[in-house]
Amino acid sequence: MKQLIYLDNAATTAARPEVVEAMLPYFSEKYGNPSSVYSLAQESKEAVDAARAAIAEALHAKPEEIYFTAGGSEADNWALVASAEAYEKKGRHIITTKIEHHAVLHTCQYLESRGFEVTYLDVDENGVVDLEELKQAIRPDTILISIMFANNEIGTIEPVEEIGKIAKAHGIPFHTDAVQAFGQVPIDVDALGIDMLSASGHKLNGPKGIGFLYIRRGIKIKSFIHGGAQERKRRAGTENVTGIVGFGKAVEIAVSTMEERTSYERRLRDHLIQRVLSEVPHSRLNGHPSDRLPANANFCFRFIEGESLLMMLDMKGICGSSGSACTSGSLDPSHVLLAIGLPHEIAHGSLRLTLNESNTMEEMDYVVDSIKEIVAQLREMSPLYADFVKKNK
Ligand SMILES: *Cc1c(COP(=O)(O)O)cnc(C)c1O
Repeated sequence: MKQLIYLDNAATTAARPEVVEAMLPYFSEKYGNPSSVYSLAQESKEAVDAARAAIAEALHAKPEEIYFTAGGSEADNWALVASAEAYEKKGRHIITTKIEHHAVLHTCQYLESRGFEVTYLDVDENGVVDLEELKQAIRPDTILISIMFANNEIGTIEPVEEIGKIAKAHGIPFHTDAVQAFGQVPIDVDALGIDMLSASGHKLNGPKGIGFLYIRRGIKIKSFIHGGAQERKRRAGTENVTGIVGFGKAVEIAVSTMEERTSYERRLRDHLIQRVLSEVPHSRLNGHPSDRLPANANFCFRFIEGESLLMMLDMKGICGSSGSACTSGSLDPSHVLLAIGLPHEIAHGSLRLTLNESNTMEEMDYVVDSIKEIVAQLREMSPLYADFVKKNK
């Protein structure tokens, strides 16, 4: 068995060796600023252009619709704040969901403090938004619909195509946070009716600190960073050339390996889920049983604390998460698990395991065996469990 079994790929991934290799020359010998005129600089510009083209192709978009940012959070902030500003004469109402990433939720709260109104749609017990509820939430002053492509905690994939149709029928721009989905499921922005899309390098085996916002031509949106003319004057600042080159490479590989890679991950993941649910008593799978990201498993184990489980898994060399990396450290249960209707005491006992292609079936078995052992140990010490056993004698 490997020393470390890394099952937290929804938090971040390792950059592929090919990605690092592609980036290296742009730190040193090819250091030119893409905005300069001499040929050294032109090499940097060409590398940025090539990455932009590869990313655009992956989404069936045009290169000039891809705007590089410093990551997924910036892309989400930009999409929401700048389109709110661009469309505020038309109205001040935004629709999103209760299960978005905090990069969207906290930006919505910020916009509320600036006088915008936000409707947070509920989701069902699998984490899927209700399209009827979406239609009913639309008002004449609705200026943006922002609904994530796939959830980062429970892996549920949203009915994006239907949402795109509804948005289009009402002439409302549709933004989707696809940070988790990009590279894991095929995305065609035209076929799906997506007007804006956020993605991030480090979630698909690229570098950290690089992302992009896709903005469909014709969508009005204000500049996010003011300064130079980079990114068609919409996002100033000298390009993160190394990051962009690495991101482009990561996307090329993610797209060309998608089918084989995700079907392997799905096989491992399904084995893991099947064994956990059948061998660990009082366990449940969170998220949609089939419409979910191929590498995501999310469980709740009654009568235990997710944090204790994580620490004991760590002692066995297993890296997991209790939800999103951003909420760990706080003792509040995940807003996503509460939104799918779980009571606090069950939501506290959650475990998210997100795989990658370097995991093996053997590792899955070791992980399940470890979970079984640790959950039993923790329950031994749990007064809640003792009560439960007494009542059910
Ligand atoms: C990770 C993540 C983000 C934030 O991306 P960063 O590049 O880390 O800023 C946003 N949305 C979702 C769904 C994510 O999983």
